[in-house]
Amino acid sequence: MTVRRVAVLGAGIMGSSLAIDLARRGVDVTLIDREAAPMQAASRWNEGKIHLGYLYAADPTTATAEHILPGSLRFADRARELIGEGLDGHVTQDDDIYLLHRDSVVSPDAMRRKFETLSDLIHRHPDASRYLVDVSAARVMEIDQSELREMAGDDIVAGFRVPERSVDTQWFADRLAGAVAAETHVVQRLGTTVVAAHPRDDPDGRWVVRDERGDEDDFDVVINALWAGRLPIDVTAGVIPQPPWSHRFRLCVFLRTRSRHDLPSALVSVGPFGDVKNYNGRDFYLSWYPAGLVAEGGELELQAPPLPVGADAEIFMARVRASLERLLPGVGAVFDDAESAQVHGGFVFARATGRLEDPGAGLHRRNLYGVERRGSYHSVDTGKYSTAPWTSAALAAEIAG
Ligand SMILES: Cc1cc2nc3c(=O)[nH]c(=O)nc-3n(C[C@H](O)[C@H](O)[C@H](O)COP(=O)(O)OP(=O)(O)OC[C@H]3O[C@@H](n4cnc5c(N)ncnc54)[C@H](O)[C@@H]3O)c2cc1C
Repeated sequence: MTVRRVAVLGAGIMGSSLAIDLARRGVDVTLIDREAAPMQAASRWNEGKIHLGYLYAADPTTATAEHILPGSLRFADRARELIGEGLDGHVTQDDDIYLLHRDSVVSPDAMRRKFETLSDLIHRHPDASRYLVDVSAARVMEIDQSELREMAGDDIVAGFRVPERSVDTQWFADRLAGAVAAETHVVQRLGTTVVAAHPRDDPDGRWVVRDERGDEDDFDVVINALWAGRLPIDVTAGVIPQPPWSHRFRLCVFLRTRSRHDLPSALVSVGPFGDVKNYNGRDFYLSWYPAGLVAEGGELELQAPPLPVGADAEIFMARVRASLERLLPGVGAVFDDAESAQVHGGFVFARATGRLEDPGAGLHRRNLYGVERRGSYHSVDTGKYSTAPWTSAALAAEIAG
């Protein structure tokens, strides 16, 4: 079939990357989103960890890391292709510090062993040198107890320097939206909520996309990259979701300081979970999972809760600060020096359920995401920000040849 027109539903990192990749292959793309601009949802408001698999230390296998690695190791290359510039200056500078809480679902010994196994896996990967820093020989280093006592609270029982980096997602969102706008083969249909996609009953195998106003349009190919809004449209397309799955809405703090701070990027895992990202000395992401998890459920689509504003936002920030400060006392200075701070967040969709504090929870393993197809309808579970541009390249090649 000659692909002339493709509808890409959803202008997050997945849909925006796909629109660019397809347009550069000469395909006419209609990119549809309910927001007034691309990159306004989860892909803007997350911490941008380009996962190497270490966060999934409670996965008893290496399945998560194996699934994530090929895409994450190529994130920097793909980002440069998409936005036309490198990520220098917009990526955390040092290794992440993984702090193990005394209530973690993984013991320090098990964590040590897991990290060794994952490092070996990474070293064997042919693209290990292409990550945001060369990780082809990088090791996880355990932090000695005296240094740990200086940087962390009493509930932290072990610490490791892990060669992972995170991208400033707001910066990247603006660049990716700009790259979409520069593509003449992409028509953006914004402020438009998709309500259905179904096959047209004709021999060409074309698909119809309907919006909430009842307007319909025909396409040779439809790609559903709606993330938290994906499943209801899959149902209309005859792609029936297979349980288990869960939606979680997480709130976080995005803060800019007046002066530079050298607070390290660190996270508390696995079980009790929170993190701090220091992108450039002044722009920070701060989260405490139990405070930020404000909605969760297993329905087809979960209503986004209202974002806290005014006094509610202040209360939320105070909770995040108090929880993190007990474990990472340096966080207080960053909050005290805030020039601006906002509470934002987004949905996490997972083909799994459970609670992080349960060692047997399915959420500790994340290797089931990818693309499902029905004729020329493609439903993309992005899974991770880290791997979206890589998934996009493969899918665009498949569709456009
Ligand atoms: C707090 C938080 C932290 C995270 N941290 C990380 C991390 O460190 N590393 C990582 O790899 N991943 C992380 N993630 C996950 C990551 O954010 C997502 O995997 C990724 O952003 C999903 O991209 P997407 O393009 O599929 O979705 P989105 O960016 O949400 O884009 C989907 C788009 O679809 C639109 N839409 C939805 N329904 C409809 C409809 N019916 N009609 C029209 N438009 C619709 C939305 O407006 C949105 O623009 C995190 C997520 C959260 C919330």
